[in-house]
Amino acid sequence: MSENPVQALFHNFEQVANFVQHHASNFIGNLQSSGPSSRGSVNASIKVPFAKTTSPVQPIDPVLKGKSSSPVTKEDLGRSTWTFLHTLAAQYPDKPTRQQKKDVKELVQILSRMYPCMECADHFKEVLRSNPVQAGSHAEFSQWLCHVHNVVNRSIGKPVFPCERVDARWGKLECEQKACEIIGSTSIFGKM
Ligand code: FAD
Repeated sequence: MSENPVQALFHNFEQVANFVQHHASNFIGNLQSSGPSSRGSVNASIKVPFAKTTSPVQPIDPVLKGKSSSPVTKEDLGRSTWTFLHTLAAQYPDKPTRQQKKDVKELVQILSRMYPCMECADHFKEVLRSNPVQAGSHAEFSQWLCHVHNVVNRSIGKPVFPCERVDARWGKLECEQKACEIIGSTSIFGKM
């Protein structure tokens, strides 16, 4: 018995679709394996165009290899920022120049305005209002920083750090030829 006209139409349509898919696959497959960009490229191994891949193959950037792309957490950011600040305090001169005192005060103020955690920045502004930056010397700045870090520690339920141990925890960096010195600490004109 012959098919009804609608069935015949669907049958023909299916054949045409298969034909187009088959030839398009071959055509694109050839382009990929013969094109100059395919040499040594992972794309050359993709044989089935239009196929859905659950994990697209990406070239591995050697710089990013092994690094996580997950976003930085509030804790990561905090740890890194405290590391920067305590390291700066460790390097801060015993007799800072007027410019260095001004710079370090501005740096801390700017941090309290631009720190990319709104809750932390707001709280830190309050902390600074009751504890203005003290930067007259290395000892003064590192003790002040230890104190304000402890104010933050207390407010988030972290243990208080013994400030008499701050120099032992955050020792001066060891760099050859004064490479870690804060700019302006020594100059051909002597200390300002
Ligand atoms: P951190 O507190 O990050 O300390 C790093 C290391 O410093 C410690 O492992 C310890 O060895 C040493 N250390 C600890 N205390 C002192 C100290 N007093 N003096 C010297 N060294 C010390 N998080 C919030 O949830 N809410 C906030 O409001 C908030 N405000 C912040 C404001 C600023 C300016 C900064 C920089 C961070 C803030 N954070 C805040 C983040 C928070 O302080 C911590 O950095 C984060 O919770 C990770 O804590 P941690 O235990 O790794 O140690």
